[in-house]
Amino acid sequence: MALLDLANGELLASGSEPSVLFEPTADAAALAAAAANGGVVAIRFPTFGDGRGHSLSVLLRERHGFKGEIRAVGYLIPDLAPFLLRSGFDTAEITDANDVETWKGSLNRIRHLYQPGPRNPQPLRRDFSKRAAEVLNERLAKIENLGERIAEMRRSIEGRIAFSTSLGLDDQAILHAIADSGADIDIFTLDTGRLFPEVLETIELSEIRYGLRIRLMAPEASEVEALVARDGVLGLRRSVDNRKACCEVRKVRPLNRALKGAQGWITGVRREHSDARSDVELASWDEQRGLTKVNPIADWSSQELTAYIAENNIPVNPLHARGFISIGCQPCTRAVQPGEHPRAGRWWWEDEAKKECGLHLNPRREEKAA
Ligand code: SF4
Repeated sequence: MALLDLANGELLASGSEPSVLFEPTADAAALAAAAANGGVVAIRFPTFGDGRGHSLSVLLRERHGFKGEIRAVGYLIPDLAPFLLRSGFDTAEITDANDVETWKGSLNRIRHLYQPGPRNPQPLRRDFSKRAAEVLNERLAKIENLGERIAEMRRSIEGRIAFSTSLGLDDQAILHAIADSGADIDIFTLDTGRLFPEVLETIELSEIRYGLRIRLMAPEASEVEALVARDGVLGLRRSVDNRKACCEVRKVRPLNRALKGAQGWITGVRREHSDARSDVELASWDEQRGLTKVNPIADWSSQELTAYIAENNIPVNPLHARGFISIGCQPCTRAVQPGEHPRAGRWWWEDEAKKECGLHLNPRREEKAA
């Protein structure tokens, strides 16, 4: 017999004798007594496939707060190593010291755990998801066709993917590609109560063209009533704080409701939109919302976008033809003059640096600022 340290896969020269040997049938009183005494306890695995020893170890650690050494003994194979470590064991009695490299290999094989446990109160899902988003970003960068990017994203992200559309040019291009690919995507828009009638017409036109339904997410009526009672119907123009409060109630909170439980979020954000968006990725991990955010046309130029719209005869908001480029709510959007920045017509009374509504916070910039 040899004693293996599960923390690093190394053999220990010697170990203390366990004060108690638990069979899988040990009761709670015996566990509590052992936990009170501390020291070294052993748990026996009588046969292959009997996992009750893991449960005892978890109970000792989590319910009884045992801080001493828990040793696994009995029928043990190297494949069990990461699971022993995960359920709170410190050491394992192995039959053949020559197997140590196999045990070590098994310990190194599983590095990311999805569930919390005695050894990982903070599960590593977050790190794994962040890396998965980075991999998706690299894959999308190698794909040129928008429909193929959508399909790749759909393959890579399990669970619900939501697409938030404002019915602008960027989002209409993505809507076309989603409909064309047949990908299962939940499509919604934020009905702020302040939309242009032309936006509603574009929703209707798009639903007919693509044979789908665009979900409308409305703000909570009581929150809108409280906001208007405090600031007035156009108080949003009196200060940046007022405007952000309006965006919070009418946009951010309904967006958060729409994204709840989603694993992916598609947006039409492009790097050309503004300085704040100049380095957005095609895919990135959204720490705040706990999902993968995909901007499938982040790297497109305005010329590429208009060419795609024209080639595919995609329905567009009639306001674009009247000088509106980036279209938001009616009180906060004006047409832009030739030569003006495309987003100059959004919240035009504010400083350029403050012109975000809180929907698309850029994690890379936040990291740099931190
Ligand atoms: S864009 Fe204007 S009207 Fe719309 S939610 Fe923001 S502040 Fe309110």
